[in-house]
Amino acid sequence: MNDIVPISLSGVENKRPIIIAGPCSAESEQQTLDTAHRLSAMGIKIFRAGIWKPRTKPGSFEGVGSVGLPWLKRVKAETGMYTATEVATVRHVEEALEAGVDVLWIGARTTANPFSMQLIADALKGVDVPILVKNPVNPDLELWIGALERLYNAGLKQIGVIHRGFTTYEKHLYRNLPHWHIPIELRRRLPHISIFGDPSHIGGSREFIAPLSQQAMDLGYDGLIIESHCNPTDALSDASQQVTPDELANILSSIVVRNTSLITETLSRLRQRIDNLDNDLISLLAERMRVSREIGHYKKENNMPVLQTHRYDEILTKRMEQAAKMGMSTHFMKSILEAIHEESVQQQIRLFNEK
Ligand code: PEP
Ligand code: MN
Repeated sequence: MNDIVPISLSGVENKRPIIIAGPCSAESEQQTLDTAHRLSAMGIKIFRAGIWKPRTKPGSFEGVGSVGLPWLKRVKAETGMYTATEVATVRHVEEALEAGVDVLWIGARTTANPFSMQLIADALKGVDVPILVKNPVNPDLELWIGALERLYNAGLKQIGVIHRGFTTYEKHLYRNLPHWHIPIELRRRLPHISIFGDPSHIGGSREFIAPLSQQAMDLGYDGLIIESHCNPTDALSDASQQVTPDELANILSSIVVRNTSLITETLSRLRQRIDNLDNDLISLLAERMRVSREIGHYKKENNMPVLQTHRYDEILTKRMEQAAKMGMSTHFMKSILEAIHEESVQQQIRLFNEK
């Protein structure tokens, strides 16, 4: 999947972070357009809104459905923003494409289902639409990558991912646990893929949006997808994690976007120093073993035993004191010396056994 390309929408600068914002759900034409106009006025270029909502229990608000698609069309026509929505079935895909939705995303529950993913991939054969795949609800990197492969095999190239956190049984501070190592490993395996952080769904509460966005930026994510509603407390879904467009503007202005290539450069210089020091350490250890073998020869010629406990005690005590003075724990130094001593004794014993 090396030829996956970042989602490219003309007029949307490829500058970190790329922001996708909008309500969890399109609830009414007025709420959709009101939110969109306010977001557009602050420079947001990609508008999200769920049309079909995957809810845990039937009977909760399950999205307005197809009647909301013309509202997204109006958003495009009136603001020039691109639109994005979640698709979970072949019908969703067909209707969204028909209505001119620009970016599709796959929800966490759908990513977790290979049958659904395959049907969606088949429905998208031959269509060059940008698609973002949320992580599956369960912390399974292979399942996430499998979903990407199904889309890739169907010919899609503009594929990105959304990190929205993982379900847990126990209650936690966050609604969904981030398990940061999973998207980090995904980035290692697929270095070219764009990663969007979804602080709204990870945190589940609006106060976590800023710190989680910052963390995503510090990890070099390409963008953020954040839920914003013109009247969050009255939202029909995910009310506690949505912010007004004004609050979103504040959050975005508070985020520090560090230059990852600079971080990488500094890091690789420091890592080079560690590599050099490790080389020196290994050469020193080899030299120490050589001297130790020389001592072994001497003991053998003079019929002395390999182990001389008082000498070992003396070394341990002295070195531990030295280590403590240099800011290392005596416990750490003791285990290093024990390991060195053991190898040293082994080397001398081998020598004693030689004819
Ligand atoms: C959403 O984006 O509103 C949504 C339902 O997300 P998820 O699939 O991450 O639960
Ligand atoms: Mn939501």
